[in-house]
Amino acid sequence: MSDTIFGKIARGEVPADLVYEDEAVVAFRDLNPQAPTHILIIPRRPIPTLNDLEEEDAALVGKLFLAAKQIAAQEGIAAAGYRTVINCNAEGGQTVFHLHLHLLGGRPMGWPPG
Ligand code: AMP
Repeated sequence: MSDTIFGKIARGEVPADLVYEDEAVVAFRDLNPQAPTHILIIPRRPIPTLNDLEEEDAALVGKLFLAAKQIAAQEGIAAAGYRTVINCNAEGGQTVFHLHLHLLGGRPMGWPPG
């Protein structure tokens, strides 16, 4: 269930511009960036949406955010600031059903989002 393009990227079956990987997490540049820095951070294990998170996934979600912190520093946007977003299902704007954390920065992000 839920084999998506991101699952294929996580397994190395589809190329992506990887910026970070470890045993649990992979991060790569968004193909259609909404900011100068736009990176997607995904768990290797496919979880379709935020609604599918279980108690046992708590550490994995923490790893997504720890990767975001590290990548933001690597990209030189940590001090200026950045935004992290997880879209869930249709009204949340989710289009790929493999949980992913967007890391956006390199410009003022504005609030509220569109
Ligand atoms: P969401 O709308 O939250 O599901 O985000 C999906 C994101 O994945 C969008 O920002 C797309 O531009 C991006 N995307 C889709 N396919 C790829 C891909 N093959 N490589 C990189 N980014 C992708």
